[in-house]
Amino acid sequence: MLVKAYGAHASDQPLESLQITRRATGAHDVQIDIAFCGICHSDLHQVRSEWEGTQYPCVPGHEIVGRVAAVGAHVQGFKPGDLVGVGCIVDSCGHCAECADGLENYCDAMVGTYNGPTADEPGWTLGGYSQKIVVHERYVLRIRHPAEQLAAVAPLLCAGITTYSPLRHWNAGPGKKVGVVGVGGLGHMGIKLAHAMGAHVVAFTTSDGKRAAARELGADEVVVSRNADDMAAHLQSFDFILNTVAAPHDLDAFLALLKRDGTMTLVGAPATPHPSPNVFNFIMKRRSLAGSMIGGIPETQEMLDFCAEHGIVADIEMVRADEINAAYERMLKGDVKYRFVIDNATLNG
Ligand code: NAP
Ligand code: ZN
Repeated sequence: MLVKAYGAHASDQPLESLQITRRATGAHDVQIDIAFCGICHSDLHQVRSEWEGTQYPCVPGHEIVGRVAAVGAHVQGFKPGDLVGVGCIVDSCGHCAECADGLENYCDAMVGTYNGPTADEPGWTLGGYSQKIVVHERYVLRIRHPAEQLAAVAPLLCAGITTYSPLRHWNAGPGKKVGVVGVGGLGHMGIKLAHAMGAHVVAFTTSDGKRAAARELGADEVVVSRNADDMAAHLQSFDFILNTVAAPHDLDAFLALLKRDGTMTLVGAPATPHPSPNVFNFIMKRRSLAGSMIGGIPETQEMLDFCAEHGIVADIEMVRADEINAAYERMLKGDVKYRFVIDNATLNG
């Protein structure tokens, strides 16, 4: 099946209109008409080969929402017309310890929604900047939000789960002081989710202009991280800090804010390493530095249901397909409140 898509032919080329092939709907597959797809900073890292190993043409997009168009003969959980989502994972081995625990995100054979190995043409997966996708039912999520909110649900499929999973794992909740570093696509979801979980939330931003907006998202306090005095006021006070920043920066400035046994978890994935942190920031207070990658399928469903129950969606700015390149430039400048979402109907025109 030929469908229209938007992607790049090389790391130094802009994205443009393409035609791609989707596989026939197999017995366990769900064929989805994609309505909207969020633009994650990972799309930009990957399409420009900043993490290396990108294969071209590259069609990014792993914040996919739409309606089921058709299902394979053995699919029982979904039917045509259902509202569904697909996140960052479209396959995994299905039988390792990680898959058995519902942590497909940590399976060594996890296949990403784009640039992952597949038997389908052209040999690597092609993502959600496209009209349709065909995905094994195991990796399809159910959306319980009202249909009018569908576009704003799209970013939950990556930005939502990538922040929800570590907040849960490190027990964000009542009585906990939680920092969220970077008020971008991931960070704004981190603030909303940590607030809904009942934590005392402090947002860290480099942008003075995001102060008021971060409060509206649910932050109890906002710190402009360039201001040393504001930072010093929070020394040794955090249980947990979630760091979403997409660029290398000084981690010591944040590690010093953790109290004894506190943890800072990195989810931002810059193309080049952070400067090495000072070992004394770990040994003096038994602090930890950790990482976390998206989340497994069961936890992604749990996050979507939590958001539906609490009325949580992303703050989005809708763009046409032919505005994607401009949106990337604006995302690099931090000029988005807080996630661009593509209206996939515009792939037609
Ligand atoms: P984004 O919307 O561009 O947000 C990143 C934010 O980081 C910016 O809005 C900005 O916030 C802050 N920032 C950017 N450059 C900075 C700098 N030089 N110094 C300090 N702060 C800076 O990106 P995103 O989509 O949220 O993604 C963030 C990162 O997470 C990317 O690297 C992405 O690849 C990665 N990611 C990881 C996972 C995972 O599973 N671990 C999943 C998805 C994405 P302020 O203006 O508030 O400072
Ligand atoms: Zn992403």
